[in-house]
Amino acid sequence: MVSFLLPDEPLRSVDEYVAFGGAQGLARARELGPEQTIQEISLSGLRGRGGGGFPTGRKWQTVRRARGTTKYVVVNAAEGEPGTFKDRALMRRNPYQIVEGAAIAALTMGAVRVYICLKATFEQEIARMTEAVEEMQVAGLAGNTTMAIVTGPEEYLFGEEKAMLEVIEGNAPLPRLLPPFEHGLFAVAPQMGWQAAGADPDAPRGRFQAQPQSNPTLVNNAETLATVPPVLAHGAEWHRAMGTAHSAGHVICTVVGDVSHAGVAEIELGMSLGEAIAQIGGGMPPGREVKAVCSGVANAVVTGAHLDAEVSHEGMQAAGSGLGSAGFIVYDDTACMVDVAHAFSRFLWVESCGQCEACKLGSEDITAALERIEFGGGADIDVQEIGARLLTVTDGTRCALPVEEQIVIASILRTYPEEFADHLEGRLCERRHDLDLPKIVDIADGVARYDEHQRFKQADWTYAAAPSGY
Ligand code: SF4
Repeated sequence: MVSFLLPDEPLRSVDEYVAFGGAQGLARARELGPEQTIQEISLSGLRGRGGGGFPTGRKWQTVRRARGTTKYVVVNAAEGEPGTFKDRALMRRNPYQIVEGAAIAALTMGAVRVYICLKATFEQEIARMTEAVEEMQVAGLAGNTTMAIVTGPEEYLFGEEKAMLEVIEGNAPLPRLLPPFEHGLFAVAPQMGWQAAGADPDAPRGRFQAQPQSNPTLVNNAETLATVPPVLAHGAEWHRAMGTAHSAGHVICTVVGDVSHAGVAEIELGMSLGEAIAQIGGGMPPGREVKAVCSGVANAVVTGAHLDAEVSHEGMQAAGSGLGSAGFIVYDDTACMVDVAHAFSRFLWVESCGQCEACKLGSEDITAALERIEFGGGADIDVQEIGARLLTVTDGTRCALPVEEQIVIASILRTYPEEFADHLEGRLCERRHDLDLPKIVDIADGVARYDEHQRFKQADWTYAAAPSGY
């Protein structure tokens, strides 16, 4: 398989990027013009690689057609999904292609500025993206739109597109109400309802009357944008011919957990999950079997019986789950799934921003009940509590975080009831506990390093002091 995203070795110059096949997409976009460019991307079948899988051409068309005098493009490179390391691998090895994709998006949207957003802790990636922007600008391959690197906080929500706009504006990562195409960067219109405008005919008046000031903003994941230049350079049909019926092309896939080694690799969509675990993660250590695979914390768990599922949107959906950002956390037959459910729920509760009561308080109650069950103090009423809270945790919420809680926790309860029963009925659970939540800091030489501070993070986003010697 020929890679068009992730070279084996990091590209060190624009010349190396050109030799890899880059730098043809922007020229093609100039020839085609905005409408044809969007048409080509739509025909290619490209879907967002950040987790949602939304059709990229449709998103671009929505922002392009949205009324608004000023438009922006935002590159979402604030990767934070547990078990996922694909955008950082891409930024380390091929930052130029993200820059070219962003330049194409800016040209197509008529954007005045591009913001490239990364977490401040991504030091290597910030350096590589900064160099790539400068080198591509000098080479005349970054278009005419200015590009700024924005560094932000460690919070999971920084990667949520509405929260990302808040961070660019200098605020905390609290998701705003309206989506970026309706209420973009530096928009001045009120987000809800009506606002008195006095005699000024141009003053913002409310959600649907305020388009000139709404600054429609395109937010795309870094890998999605990096896929755009080869799509334009080789044509929609070339891209459409790879992958599956509803998931065209290649994806950068991460495999971590109880596998022989951690890994990140570009694969063609449609490869089986078992093959991806074998090729990227080296398979299971001798004597161990796959018990569970989670694609981040955002989708339902799948069991070892589903290793023939395709790594594609429809394939993972047929297995009762979702592709997410193609980051797979593998648990072997020794893992305690009560412990996994507790770790996932705690992560989502802690990372919830608290703007919506049902989300913050509901995930707190679920986490507390799971903790009681895990440590042997649980009762049937805790299971009922979890069930009740899972029904309401998504009520009136601004973002998808509690939907993730609802899906992933319910799926673990449904799939491994006997493990919950063991804990509830006082039988000794000899399965492996204290599993680390795989919030990846680095993957090198087959070893994934996880954020060891995450376990000390508290619900108000402060950190408890680590025990001495930790
Ligand atoms: Fe914050 Fe949860 Fe509301 Fe999202 S749903 S904005 S994480 S409180």
